Amino acid sequence: MTFFSTAAEQDPVVSCRPHCGACCIAPSISSPLPGMPDGKPAGMACLHLDQQMRCRIFADPARPAVCDSLQPRWSMCGDGPRAASMNLAELERLTMP
Ligand code: SF4
Ligand code: SF4
Repeated sequence: MTFFSTAAEQDPVVSCRPHCGACCIAPSISSPLPGMPDGKPAGMACLHLDQQMRCRIFADPARPAVCDSLQPRWSMCGDGPRAASMNLAELERLTMP
């Protein structure tokens, strides 16, 4: 019998929500992106986000590893783009150098 839930149970992987794009706007990215050699600051939309809030370079090997490794989780994505933006802004604040 398991008395304690695991971290994964507390923060499950969720499906990326269409028309969100919060994780490509709210956080800063310090690694270089194609066309953005210094990465991007928090709150700025990535150059590669299209009008439908999808990544134009999703399958491109030039897509940074940080984007590749990001897993949609409830704690980040929440119940909508607004919640995701707030969660990501808070994470940004907590991880500022
Ligand atoms: S914040 Fe979550 S739902 Fe929104 S685009 Fe990123 S992974 Fe998808
Ligand atoms: S490269 Fe793609 S996944 Fe990464 S921040 Fe830009 S739009 Fe988002």
